[in-house]
Amino acid sequence: MNIYDLTFKELENYFLDNGEKKFRASQVFEWLYKKRVTSFSEMTNLSNDLIDKLKTSFTLDRPIVVKEEHDKDVSKFLFKLNDEEHIESVVMYHDYGISLCISSQVGCNMGCAFCESGKRKKVRNLLPSEMLLQVIIIEEIIKKRISHIVVMGIGEPFDNFDNLVKFIDNANNPKGLEIGSRHITVSTCGIVPKIYEFSKLPYQVNLAISLHSAFDDKRSKIMPINKVYPLKDVIDAVKDYISITNRRVTFEYILLSGINDSTEDAKALCKLIKGLNAYVNLIPYNEGSSMGFKRPKNDEIMKFYDIIKKEGINVTVRREFGSKISAACGQLRSKKEE
Ligand code: SAH
Repeated sequence: MNIYDLTFKELENYFLDNGEKKFRASQVFEWLYKKRVTSFSEMTNLSNDLIDKLKTSFTLDRPIVVKEEHDKDVSKFLFKLNDEEHIESVVMYHDYGISLCISSQVGCNMGCAFCESGKRKKVRNLLPSEMLLQVIIIEEIIKKRISHIVVMGIGEPFDNFDNLVKFIDNANNPKGLEIGSRHITVSTCGIVPKIYEFSKLPYQVNLAISLHSAFDDKRSKIMPINKVYPLKDVIDAVKDYISITNRRVTFEYILLSGINDSTEDAKALCKLIKGLNAYVNLIPYNEGSSMGFKRPKNDEIMKFYDIIKKEGINVTVRREFGSKISAACGQLRSKKEE
């Protein structure tokens, strides 16, 4: 097992089970997350016996970056995992900080019609270590600190819930990556039972819901998950989340020309979410893929935006990063496989 798969609590328990004091966990986390060592031998405040014990219990394996693409305000990394599978991460340089979009699975089973990631079915879940090491390795490469994490890369994070929670724990822990929970966002296509579970977690992490249509029949066509968890169930779960956490939810809405970008679509969206503590993030479709959809023209996007704005709902149009370097999720990996 990779030592990065353990939460702080689990590592404390490991030491207690092995007749050691639990402060060893603090020492080891310091080496892993602050000093960022790549071998157990470098943990010089531990005895040789303890180092040997760690070596037999754990690995410190790392995914390898096999491809990088850089543009002005975006960088993209393709990782090879230990079993030769590939995932990708995207760094976006904002004026408020640097955010990293990480993958949560190899492939994805959600099958959204417009999304490149689902072209290949889920091969497996990513381990907590594989999510954490995307952050650690990229920080080493760019020599800057990541301030924000969005779990919006390849995969459906709520289809890998337990590993996601461990990842959040170590990402947020002051002894771990120490990224504020309000700087961590998890995006889901709407796996309703997991939204309820997410509400009960002790972290103040942001929740984003990929909505993409306010009509059930249309949403089911572009997002098959809607046949299992239709809009009403998603909205009920979101209301529960808001009432428990008091936190604002983001609705992501990808704009696909001629599919979900009409005046009726905008009005239905307003009706569906009116009164909720939520805001809408409009995502102009990134065409750098072979899924056959079109990005609406700018005036169409602004028309859609204006309708929502006029209803008094908070709305933004997502800045388009990386259309040149195939930065929408799954596109780099997809290219590699072709
Ligand atoms: N499975 C999760 C997280 C990964 S997808 C989810 O569905 O939310 C992250 C976001 O990128 C989703 O809103 C998804 O719909 C969107 N997306 C996928 N392909 C896209 C593309 N080509 N252009 C713009 N957004 C895209």
